[in-house]
Amino acid sequence: MMRRNRVVVTGGAGFLGSHLCDRLIADGNDVICVDNLFTGSKDNIRHLLGNPYFEFIRHDVTQPIFLECDQIYNLACPASPLWYQKDPIYTTKTSLYGALNMLGLANRTGARILQASTSEVYGDPECNPQKESYRGNVNTIGPRSCYDEGKRAAETLFFDYHRQHGVDIKVMRIFNTYGPRMDIGDGRVVSNFIVQALRGEDITIYGDGSQTRSFCYVDDLIEGMTRVMNSRDGFTGPVNIGNPGEFTIRALAEKVIELTGTSSKLIFQELPVDDPTQRRPDISLAKEELEWQPHVMLEEGLKKTIAYFERIL
Ligand code: NAD
Ligand code: UDP
Repeated sequence: MMRRNRVVVTGGAGFLGSHLCDRLIADGNDVICVDNLFTGSKDNIRHLLGNPYFEFIRHDVTQPIFLECDQIYNLACPASPLWYQKDPIYTTKTSLYGALNMLGLANRTGARILQASTSEVYGDPECNPQKESYRGNVNTIGPRSCYDEGKRAAETLFFDYHRQHGVDIKVMRIFNTYGPRMDIGDGRVVSNFIVQALRGEDITIYGDGSQTRSFCYVDDLIEGMTRVMNSRDGFTGPVNIGNPGEFTIRALAEKVIELTGTSSKLIFQELPVDDPTQRRPDISLAKEELEWQPHVMLEEGLKKTIAYFERIL
């Protein structure tokens, strides 16, 4: 019998990680989910817990772990500004020690390793859309720096392990992704707006709502992620994965109001420090290398996400 690929997913009980675990199980892999449940939840993987090809290990990636594996997806890290700023020192530790520990594991086992990096490495970008060659405009000392600089230094470690030890790396830069299993208290914009709309509460726009983001539906993202992992030898990235459709935050709020039919009103709150004014991925590299592009447009993805929150609220 052919041996199944042993795949480690750090952060596998989180929003993206749990969808990735589903996909890897469906594709016939032997999955080890490593997560300390800092922002993730067993509820996200509950349906997988009885599967003999799925294992959950409660573990903090800032500590080393010894596993035998063929592939590692490194997703462990809080992703919402609300959560990554609660304990910023710990966020940096998770990014750095997590990357070091997982790269060490890849080096010892010969596993291929993918880093879930982020559009935040571009900071508050001066050019739009952002190409991978853009080096970014990042504050080293602000409240977002623990996340942005942690992720930037993790990319550095990935490329140094590749050059120094020949580790087989893949680096993807994820742009804002949304969908079912975002936590109600996650704090990111799509889940906040939908939860507020469904509860009939005020919809909290930070600043005047003219800042832009590009929203990718989770299914498209996971397809892109598996394509990055299984891309040709020698292709390391970094590669942008996201949906190039760009919307103001105000337009997003209005869309959510329209689709939920809520009587909620918009309220305007203070804009967080260093909140990027614009963000849109240039995905030409992903199209060329991976033949990947997103298929789910914002309205369709929002409808699915609204249906999910209607079920759980
Ligand atoms: P999430 O918060 O839902 O998931 C993160 C997971 O990592 C959680 O299950 C959490 O418990 C776990 N975790 C955190 N610290 C840990 C530690 N020290 N040890 C072990 N586990 C730990 O967020 P998400 O949206 O699923 O993001 C997953 C990854 O993708 C993150 O690395 C994030 O930076 C990256 N990313 C996500 C987006 C997005 O829009 N969703 C955008 C860019 C990058
Ligand atoms: N935002 C908002 N209201 C909210 C949550 C977020 O207006 O309740 C804004 C936030 O200021 C930012 C954008 O929405 O401009 C995206 O925020 P999010 O936290 O989802 O992710 P970011 O891309 O900033 O990491």
